[in-house]
Amino acid sequence: MKNTSKEIFREQTYLLYLNSKLPITISVAAAGLFSWSLRSVVDHRFLIYWFTAFFIISAIRLYLLFLYSSDVGAHKKQDHWHGRFLILTCISAATWGSASFFLFPEQSLPHQIVFFMIMLGMAAGAVSSLCPSLPVVLGYLSLLLIPVIAKMITIGSEETWFNASLVLMFWAVTVIGSIKINENIRENIELHLQSVSREKILKVSEERYRHIFSHAPLGIFHYDADGIIIDCNDEFVRLLKSSKKSLIGLNMPARLKDQKMLDAIHRSLAGGEGYYEGDYTSITSNSVTPVRTFFKAIKQTAETVLGGVGIVEDFTERKKSAELIQYQASYDHLTGLANRRMLLDSLDNEISRARRHNHYGALLYIDLDNFKTINDSLGHSAGDQLLKIVAKRIRENLRREDTAARMGGDEFIIIATELDTTIGLAAYKAKGIAEKVKRFLSAPASIDGNDLQITSSIGVSIFPAQGKEVDDILKQADSAMYRSKTAGRNSISFFLPHMQEAANERLRLNMEIRRALEKEEFVLYYQPQVDLSGRILSAEALIRWNHPERGLLLPGAFLEVAEETGLMHEIGQWVFRSACRQIKTWADTKKLSTSQTISINISGKEIAAPGFIDMATGTLEKTGADPHRLGIELTEGSLVPAGEDIVEKIMTLRKMGVEFSVDDFGTGYSSLSYLKRLPLNTLKIDRSFIHDIKDGSRDVVLVDTIISMAKNLGLDVIAEGVETEEELRYLSTRGCHVFQGYYFSKPVPTTAFTKMLEKQHGNL
Ligand code: C2E
Ligand code: CA
Ligand code: CA
Repeated sequence: MKNTSKEIFREQTYLLYLNSKLPITISVAAAGLFSWSLRSVVDHRFLIYWFTAFFIISAIRLYLLFLYSSDVGAHKKQDHWHGRFLILTCISAATWGSASFFLFPEQSLPHQIVFFMIMLGMAAGAVSSLCPSLPVVLGYLSLLLIPVIAKMITIGSEETWFNASLVLMFWAVTVIGSIKINENIRENIELHLQSVSREKILKVSEERYRHIFSHAPLGIFHYDADGIIIDCNDEFVRLLKSSKKSLIGLNMPARLKDQKMLDAIHRSLAGGEGYYEGDYTSITSNSVTPVRTFFKAIKQTAETVLGGVGIVEDFTERKKSAELIQYQASYDHLTGLANRRMLLDSLDNEISRARRHNHYGALLYIDLDNFKTINDSLGHSAGDQLLKIVAKRIRENLRREDTAARMGGDEFIIIATELDTTIGLAAYKAKGIAEKVKRFLSAPASIDGNDLQITSSIGVSIFPAQGKEVDDILKQADSAMYRSKTAGRNSISFFLPHMQEAANERLRLNMEIRRALEKEEFVLYYQPQVDLSGRILSAEALIRWNHPERGLLLPGAFLEVAEETGLMHEIGQWVFRSACRQIKTWADTKKLSTSQTISINISGKEIAAPGFIDMATGTLEKTGADPHRLGIELTEGSLVPAGEDIVEKIMTLRKMGVEFSVDDFGTGYSSLSYLKRLPLNTLKIDRSFIHDIKDGSRDVVLVDTIISMAKNLGLDVIAEGVETEEELRYLSTRGCHVFQGYYFSKPVPTTAFTKMLEKQHGNL
């Protein structure tokens, strides 16, 4: 049997068992009725035997049904159940058939009618329940009806012949009908089986796709033509750290913010494909996931787009490994410092940056002394530990903007950027950094119980340098380092010897300034500020350094270093104190008239310092100097970024009577608004304008402008650096009436200036 016909056969058997319970029960009732109706014309004993036999057979049949139905699933697969049914049904039919011979009421016509009705009724009734199996139904009909026909024929009367032919016709009709019905049933079963198997296949394939969908290692989601998410898998939910509930039904075009993502979705909705790669911020969970996403339209026809499908790949791991590769490519695996490659990149950047912004930086080439000895005697692991300690110390002591790298072996590099705008000071600062490095590296390092003292040789080169690129700067520092080594190690060398000198010089100067402050080597000189007739109206105090070896030094020789190293603060305090003391002395000895003031210079950094006002008021109070006789000169540079802080400080001192002048006016800044905002007294025209006053030159125009502007603002004007009579004449014709310069007097020591004051007093 073919697989399907076997299945049909089993279905038929199943139907037989399924539909037989009621007909069997009814047939028992019918047999009872049948026996009872014949009681008056047939021997009772026959009736009892017959009915008992029928009853037993029916009971067996019902029992068979019961057996079958006790485990339909298993019994359905066993073919012998059909045979059993067939046999019992045939016996049951033969029992009916036997009634034609033993129970036929030959004498009574009415009983014969009942007999025929029940017989034909049994036959007709059997058709519906037994039709599923052709052998069963045909067997049943034949065994039931053929004996009836045979009986009629054996009687042999005209009527019985007629009856026989009627029953024969009935038999033929029911047989044909049964065959037809059976065919229908077979077809039905076949169709049913087909649809069941189709459904099964569909279910299996659907299940398979469900599995693929939900277990795919990729996020998959599906959206309609409006871009609304219809379905998504668990991986998609996990990727976006969101929930299915908030994702399904999400209107992507309306809600998403990432323009790149939106573009990709729109491309798919327009019938094409979209691609997105990057760190995606989920709008439902705000989590950021590096992803790669493909979008593709789902189309019904070439034109109609039903929606789209998106496939999302988690890029976290890939990104991590890319970062790791990047890290490994840029960093030294032992110490975690930048490696040679990254250092070259950084140095290249720093050189360009320094060129662009006109500042200098330094490259320090550090080589540990005797590292090889340590490595050979204590082993490689000790050597590694030492390198790690060195790297750690470098890292901890580095400024944020600087870069440290390991070049391999025991060689390290530090790039110190933006040291200064002058090469000399940059060298000086680089030396400071190198010394610091030497110091912190030489602290004992404990390795495997040994306290090791490491010294280092350092080479320094300054960048940018004309025509020198990364390699040159590195080589310079390397060769400087080599010089340190040959000079006996544990030392610092500059590539250019004069830079070394400059750095040394700065360092020495710094120490000397400290000493000068202690030993009172600074002095104030005074330069008078006079009217056209030479009468002293005021004076400017200017600092000088009585250097024990180098003689009298002008401020230009030391103030810059003092500013850079923070010593300016102390010098400023010294100047303030000395000037105030002198004012007090001259006032007490009546050398200074009430209208005469002494001005001091205050640098931008000094006035910006937080304690400036306290220092100023404290000093005025302590020395007892009259604030009205004190003037302060501030350069334009320190006034222009006039923050509220500076304004307030000036106000405070102005209220006490201190006068303020703008020094070197006209030299730089274009913004003049500060002039209006600040309560200033005087503008000092810078001496560079005065120097070459000739009628018609540009400077003349500038000087004229400054003078008339000062007048408009209600400020006094002092011309600085007046050296010739010509300059004096010109300035006085233009309306400037106070002058300071060599034409009248150079800055002079206190005693000399006291004499000048005395002389003027005498003249008064
Ligand atoms: P400055 O405030 O512009 O001082 C005027 C400078 O011009 C002084 O130089 C003075 O000697 C010089 N000078 C005066 N008349 C003439 C002239 O006719 N011709 C020429 N060529 N020069 C003249 P000095 O004393 O060398 O001071 C230089 C700068 O140092 C000062 O410029 C000032 O900015 C600063 N400075 C001086 N003393 C102090 C101080 O005590 N504290 C602060 N913070 N800065 C000071
Ligand atoms: Ca000045
Ligand atoms: Ca000046």
